[in-house]
Amino acid sequence: MRHVVIIGSGCAGNTAAVYAARANLQPLVIEGLEAGGQLSLTTLVENFPGFPDGIQGPELVANIKKQAERFGAQYRAGEVTVADLSRRPFRLTLDGSETVETQTLIVASGASARWLGLESEQKLIGHGVSSCATCDGFFFRGRPVMVIGGGDSAMEEATFLTRFASQVTISHRRDQFRASKIMLDRARSNEKIRWLTNTVVEEVYDLAKGEVTGARLRNLKEDRRFDYAIDGLFLAIGHLPNTKIFRGQLELDPEGYVISHGGARTSVAGVFHAGDVQDRHYRQAVTAAGMGCMAAIEAERFLETQGH
Ligand code: NAP
Repeated sequence: MRHVVIIGSGCAGNTAAVYAARANLQPLVIEGLEAGGQLSLTTLVENFPGFPDGIQGPELVANIKKQAERFGAQYRAGEVTVADLSRRPFRLTLDGSETVETQTLIVASGASARWLGLESEQKLIGHGVSSCATCDGFFFRGRPVMVIGGGDSAMEEATFLTRFASQVTISHRRDQFRASKIMLDRARSNEKIRWLTNTVVEEVYDLAKGEVTGARLRNLKEDRRFDYAIDGLFLAIGHLPNTKIFRGQLELDPEGYVISHGGARTSVAGVFHAGDVQDRHYRQAVTAAGMGCMAAIEAERFLETQGH
């Protein structure tokens, strides 16, 4: 029986672990399929307070984990496959077999990359189609690639990819960009980046060869289809919250994000949220860390009220 189990080991989960461990609650952190969360997929983080020269994302998240372990947090690799929140203690099934019981639960399971959903795209994942420039950019040295999206992620990934690729084309379905001005300007001033607006991907070539050789695109304004040669396709079209196991148990919005009941509270007493699993607006490392802290403090107070 655990006092606190934290699902997720990104900035939110790890910070919750620091606070819960320092409250002597010996939290168990289930690391999940994407250990370290979004920070582990990024490069230099320049806006986390306290690092005037920036810090690498993977180093930042590893540091917070080390800090939590120093105070007694335990980490366990694996995935929560079933969560029964119908009564306390809550029961979690790990990797389909092991069961863990806990008085409180902190849901910090984050959000995963969204895909276009094309059959050709799905079949070529790992063969030229990627959702992580940081992970896969290196493989495209001297080759042309395309980034899909019009938000900050697309600008960041495209700018990063210019380190390796011969040319980076940003393709966006509208001609208005969601990206912040500073990120957009940075990408716009990069000579290696080309732009296609009002354009969508209809098919990724070449399934027969088992690698990306190009894409069939459609200009929505002119209703014109054309082929475009690329060796790599990077998706940067947002994220989907990892809340499948909580459907029908926690109150979720139509896209699956956890609905907050004030502070870090969810619709179930004793279950708290932290980070991107609930936050569709800010999604910053520092806000995720802040929510992790709030969730741990609320879990601690909840346990006190229950006489633990
Ligand atoms: P986002 O802001 O939601 O942008 C997603 C983009 O993908 C949008 O341009 C959207 O187009 C497009 N899109 C969505 N679904 C699509 C589909 N099915 N087909 C084609 N295009 C599609 O997501 P994000 O860029 O990942 O950013 C998320 C949050 O993280 C934001 O708050 C952002 O500021 C933050 N962020 C910050 C940094 C940084 O500061 N260093 C870096 C990355 C992200 P529409 O515009 O037409 O909807």
